Amino acid sequence: MAIKGGCLCGRVRYEVTGPLFDADHCHCSMCRRQHGAAFSTYAEFNPGDFIWISGEGLVKVYETLSGGGWCFCSECGSTLAGTDNGKITTITLGTVEGDPGIKPESHIFVGSRAQWHDINDDLPQFEERPPDSWEPPRNSG
Ligand SMILES: [Zn+2]
Ligand SMILES: [Zn+2]
Repeated sequence: MAIKGGCLCGRVRYEVTGPLFDADHCHCSMCRRQHGAAFSTYAEFNPGDFIWISGEGLVKVYETLSGGGWCFCSECGSTLAGTDNGKITTITLGTVEGDPGIKPESHIFVGSRAQWHDINDDLPQFEERPPDSWEPPRNSG
């Protein structure tokens, strides 16, 4: 079942044709500024599973020197996807229509979280990225 999402003004829409995985809340200072929020939530997908289904010409990409970036609608400002060295690697869970079939598994870059935000759930927290060896606990079903 394809996962669809879109921006606030409705002009830009995307589809992910395969499953989402590895969702996390990112508290880094870049994500906080980019989203104007305490944290942002992303999920990954298999390479090739992402397509823009409308409004691709309105999509702008802001990339940092470190190679990370964000795709947003130039009309309404919604952040739809994350990029890594120019490739779209994540979508923002907040722009998915309906149930994405996945829930966040961790908090990352907690070391730079907003001072005014308390994390009140039991998900694992990492100062930066989780170690390569870390496997999120899989929910049954
Ligand atoms: Zn828009
Ligand atoms: Zn971040």
